[in-house]
Amino acid sequence: MATHIVIIGAGPAGVNTVETYRAFDWQSEITVLSAEPHPPYSPPAMVDHFLTGSDAHLWRGVDWPHRMGVDYRSGVTITSIEPSSHRIRTQTSETLDYDQLVIATGSRLYAPLEGAEMPGVYNFKSLSAAESLVKRVKSGEAHTALIVGAGFIGMEIALLLCELGVQVTQIEMLDQVMPAMLDAQTAAFAQKNMRQRGVDVRLNTKARRFTGDGRAEGVELESGLVLRGDILIAATGVRPNLDFLEGSGIAHRWGITVNDHLLTSVPEIYAVGDVIETPDKLTGESFVHAILPNAMEQGRVVGLNLAGIDTRYEGAERMNSLKHLDLPIIAVGLKQGDEVLRTRLGDGYRTLYLQEDRLVGYQLIGDIRAAGALRTLLNRGENIHKIKDRLLEPTFGQGSLAWAAIEGYS
Ligand SMILES: Cc1cc2nc3c(=O)[nH]c(=O)nc-3n(C[C@H](O)[C@H](O)[C@H](O)COP(=O)(O)OP(=O)(O)OC[C@H]3O[C@@H](n4cnc5c(N)ncnc54)[C@H](O)[C@@H]3O)c2cc1C
Repeated sequence: MATHIVIIGAGPAGVNTVETYRAFDWQSEITVLSAEPHPPYSPPAMVDHFLTGSDAHLWRGVDWPHRMGVDYRSGVTITSIEPSSHRIRTQTSETLDYDQLVIATGSRLYAPLEGAEMPGVYNFKSLSAAESLVKRVKSGEAHTALIVGAGFIGMEIALLLCELGVQVTQIEMLDQVMPAMLDAQTAAFAQKNMRQRGVDVRLNTKARRFTGDGRAEGVELESGLVLRGDILIAATGVRPNLDFLEGSGIAHRWGITVNDHLLTSVPEIYAVGDVIETPDKLTGESFVHAILPNAMEQGRVVGLNLAGIDTRYEGAERMNSLKHLDLPIIAVGLKQGDEVLRTRLGDGYRTLYLQEDRLVGYQLIGDIRAAGALRTLLNRGENIHKIKDRLLEPTFGQGSLAWAAIEGYS
């Protein structure tokens, strides 16, 4: 039966919901809304876009709405959801009725620092935000930058600004870069590489507030010292976009809570991507995972459920990568276990974390060809005692050898 599906958000989660659904049905009307004035884009490709001028970030093409038979409305912000009347409301008080609703509103900058709301504090969390940052740099007004935070978005910004000729200082309150994903050794490697690029990375350096009178001018540290930069950037984390939930009855904690079909607590309303909390595949712990492969998979699951194909979500993965260093880095799963296997490969490393003979995490620097095979092993969660020594062989992960090893033991 044809229905009207409304999707709030045109990031990877919303886009993949549509593409999956359209594989099964072209009768239903689909409306996709985005608060931003852009065609659908992929945030991980923004750095390449600004470095090369390519349209890599417009990954599905500007004709995507037409090809998908979608009524695409950009620059429309949803401010409330009224489930009793199956209606949503925009910032201009227009209303739109839905039969099925998908919340795919992603996440935004989380900067729990006094003064972070002031003009003059930039971020890179959306294409619009990144454009205004890069515009400031390209105008020639900013020769120095101060970045608060060395998580993966902060690292991407630092590398981009270096390439654009800006002298970058980056502060991180913890004792390593990318603390959420990288183990200490991989982090030290990444940091050394950043320093070689000219980024002044300062660890154990905690920001207290942005200073300035109406416009941010510097960052005061816990030590009392004030650091300045022509451009000040917050890269302190992300939080789900869910302001519009008030009064809707949709349950949420830090992110929206969903069941194993990614349905919210309200019938006919699904939620996907960075805006939801989902159980971790490895630990079962529920939190906002905020990475692209999870957003894509969740979009796929909801697209199938909307099409009437009953599909459970198996849980989220943890992974991250940095490709703009001299050597690529991939970190997947946990960064601890009861056994650590490590080998040097060329200029890089392969580190594996095992728990009771099961692969629970790995970090690759340089030669990342084993990533696919290791991911398969990790997701299978089976006992790998018989093959674990082979996982350190340089050739493991290359073509048929890896698959022979995996298939051979199962
Ligand atoms: C610089 C950068 C680099 C990244 N690199 C990687 C990487 O290398 N690997 C990786 O796995 N992940 C990476 N990520 C994370 C990844 O981009 C996100 O996990 C992914 O984009 C989440 O998709 P989403 O569709 O849930 O949300 P988003 O991509 O955030 O899209 C949200 C959409 O909702 C819209 N929206 C929000 N609020 C409203 C509203 N009230 N009304 C209407 N529309 C609204 C927005 O305009 C947007 O269209 C990166 C993110 C950034 C910012």
